Amino acid sequence: MEQHKLDEENIEITMARVKREERLQRHQDEIRKKRAHADRLWREHIQRSNIDYIDKMNGIEFENILKYFFENIGYRVRTTTVSGDQGVDLIIEKENKRIGLQAKRYSEKNRVGNKAVQEIISGVVFYDLNEGWVITTSTFTDAAVQLAEKAKIQLIDRYKLKTLLAKQQKKQFEHWEVITCYECGVLNRVDFIKVKIAKCGKCGMGIDI
Ligand SMILES: [Zn+2]
Repeated sequence: MEQHKLDEENIEITMARVKREERLQRHQDEIRKKRAHADRLWREHIQRSNIDYIDKMNGIEFENILKYFFENIGYRVRTTTVSGDQGVDLIIEKENKRIGLQAKRYSEKNRVGNKAVQEIISGVVFYDLNEGWVITTSTFTDAAVQLAEKAKIQLIDRYKLKTLLAKQQKKQFEHWEVITCYECGVLNRVDFIKVKIAKCGKCGMGIDI
């Protein structure tokens, strides 16, 4: 009698385990599909915006984009003059560090030469800055890269710029999905762009996104 009851209990435990594993499998398939979907939307979003968008702007608009970008990541931003006096277009400040920026909105074929680096070197001296950066929608010539290395000027080309802007935009972009908790079955709304591990609102189970 006692043995019979134990067997029944064991069967129940095994069945519960099998069912849980099935739920977990379905859950993981669901996450995989939704993750792929969110990643695709994110890539499309990035392609639509950023560089393609920046390529279409004029120099002043490019400076403004940079201004908003650096403000958003906590810098105080000051423009010098419209013409970019003494090789510096923007001065950005954070934690007592003052950085001079020269913005070159060039087409991709038109590379930035070492004149831009020479100018920012003078700008750093003129405005008494800690660092100088040249940021472009294009790339740099070898001579520009060599001089920048010697003078400790930071060069940000279109590829670095794209990465910088993408990081910034990730804060603003959202994509929500509803996922079922495999533990308790409750539906949870999760931002697939920002969240890596969500917690079920009911049972607190961690859900890897
Ligand atoms: Zn749950």
